[in-house]
Amino acid sequence: MRLAQYRVKPPLVKRSGITGWAINYAYGCTHACPFCYVQAIHERYPRRGLEDLTREGWGNYLAIPVNLREAIRETPWWRWRGKEVFMSSSHDPYLPPLAVWARRILEKALPAGVRIILHTRSVLYKRDLPLLSKYSDRVRVHASIATLSRLHRLIEPRVPPPWVRANVLGEARRTGLRVGASVSPILPPNRYNKDVFKDLLGVAGLLAEAGVEIVYGESLHRRGGNLALLSRVLGFRVSIEGWDREAERIFYRAMDEMGLRAVWIPG
Ligand code: SF4
Repeated sequence: MRLAQYRVKPPLVKRSGITGWAINYAYGCTHACPFCYVQAIHERYPRRGLEDLTREGWGNYLAIPVNLREAIRETPWWRWRGKEVFMSSSHDPYLPPLAVWARRILEKALPAGVRIILHTRSVLYKRDLPLLSKYSDRVRVHASIATLSRLHRLIEPRVPPPWVRANVLGEARRTGLRVGASVSPILPPNRYNKDVFKDLLGVAGLLAEAGVEIVYGESLHRRGGNLALLSRVLGFRVSIEGWDREAERIFYRAMDEMGLRAVWIPG
């Protein structure tokens, strides 16, 4: 694992083509999910000065702004009062070395009235639930869960098991927070997950128990080398030809059986 630093220019809240407003405060994500679309962005547009770092390969590098403390202080958070801001779109906001920074950001953003969607595959936000629940009118915790099958160990190699993430999401709900989830990526049937519908039904059951108010679903979005990396990790060629429509159908059926409000994000 290579660590590095860079300088970030305040404000920390920036426009994002994918999510509207977003807060990103690291370059790289050590969770190393092989399907991640961010790797394609870094390969194509490596950050100036971090080109060499980027060549370490997805999941093997992390850079944190050397001036992050000042950037948090110098961000005029009130400017985003009432606006929904995604945290984070290019890395997990609660990677272990980032958890302390996530809290510092939330301590500034929430009292200023910023509405935060906290999107994570980690459970480290659990320690910040007392803080988050004080602002339950402006936070939604959003967990990403791909599958309950054996596949999860391969495609989400460095995060807690999906049932642990769903449990913590349930805890967040019980403190009064609004919670949601992404079921992503839904992959075609394979040797690790032969019955995708059954698997999704299990995921939907856990999410219903956790009390999620909305579930987003998506299959694999092909970006840069993510399909090739995923195939290498799984040991067979992953083919997603024609899968998006079928995945959408299965996803809605499973969520519907558990009475969950669901939205499909097309590939
Ligand atoms: S946690 Fe999210 S940002 Fe990090 S590698 Fe996985 S999909 Fe990418």
